[in-house]
Amino acid sequence: MRAKSFLGFCQPLTSKKGIAMVVLRRALAAVLLLFSASCVPAQTLALTFDDGLDPSTEPAAASWNRQILKSLRDAGISSMVFPSLVRTGQGEGLDLIGDWGRAGHAIGNHTSRHRSLGSPQLPLADFIGDVKEAGAVLSRIPGWSKMLRFPYLKEGNMLAKRDGMRLWMQAAGYRAAPVSIDASDWYYNQVYVAWLNEANAAKADQVKAAYIAHLLDRAAYYDGLAQQVLGRSPAHVMLLHTNRINAAALDELIWAFRERGWSFTTARSAFDDPIYTEQIDTLPAGESILWASAKAAGIPGLRYPAEDSVYEAPPLRAQGLIPAHMPQ
Ligand SMILES: [Zn+2]
Repeated sequence: MRAKSFLGFCQPLTSKKGIAMVVLRRALAAVLLLFSASCVPAQTLALTFDDGLDPSTEPAAASWNRQILKSLRDAGISSMVFPSLVRTGQGEGLDLIGDWGRAGHAIGNHTSRHRSLGSPQLPLADFIGDVKEAGAVLSRIPGWSKMLRFPYLKEGNMLAKRDGMRLWMQAAGYRAAPVSIDASDWYYNQVYVAWLNEANAAKADQVKAAYIAHLLDRAAYYDGLAQQVLGRSPAHVMLLHTNRINAAALDELIWAFRERGWSFTTARSAFDDPIYTEQIDTLPAGESILWASAKAAGIPGLRYPAEDSVYEAPPLRAQGLIPAHMPQ
């Protein structure tokens, strides 16, 4: 009750002096609010999902897709999906992407063939062809947004390809859709599925727990990198995939982030943060936008690639969480 009396919001205004006191109290309250807000690290995060699923090659695709959408809806989170036609197919898999659009999520472009612009074997013109091919199909889906997520986050192995792509995107009206938080959910998914295929639900559960810890760890790492490079915590964008482990873990991982003080924002508004329109001068180009910014700033100790199974396999193996017969 003392706080209410101090703020004085409910007191009647009886005189000029009274009004002045209330104005003063409200100004003080605003300062206090600002002060307390600056003491609490306010980290925000948007979730984005790459690839899409194809029911013609994966019978459970529709079920996993439905589960991911349900988790997002239950948590009140608006996301963005970046389908690649080679992963969705051109039939029912596109219908599943349509479900994202109808649920209010945004749809971007992840190319038709999921080829890496970082590959010396892939000419720029072929990569642009992949973007156009996917755009022609995906632009018919509700929620379409002309944003490109580069496969493998690789934006060119040489200057001519990197800058040629940037010029083409500008002329074509495309925006890049980088991530700030990269992770290895695709690898945890492989290990998780391998245990389920061995009918070992207990081990699969342990992998799921390790996976959530991995995402929290990567988020803390990239947020720390942001503090070094930007001096602030941006609206983060995290890379996930439309896979089985996310269908199973999304409820828990959203809860885990919220419990640690992270709040969720929409992918559309997160991309308004100026870091996502920066054109960083690194080669090979790509990775997390924060990793690239740190690389350009000469921050030491950055590993390349920034995220990979080679970093995740040893600790998982040490915990007995990699099946003996899992293909390496
Ligand atoms: Zn992908």
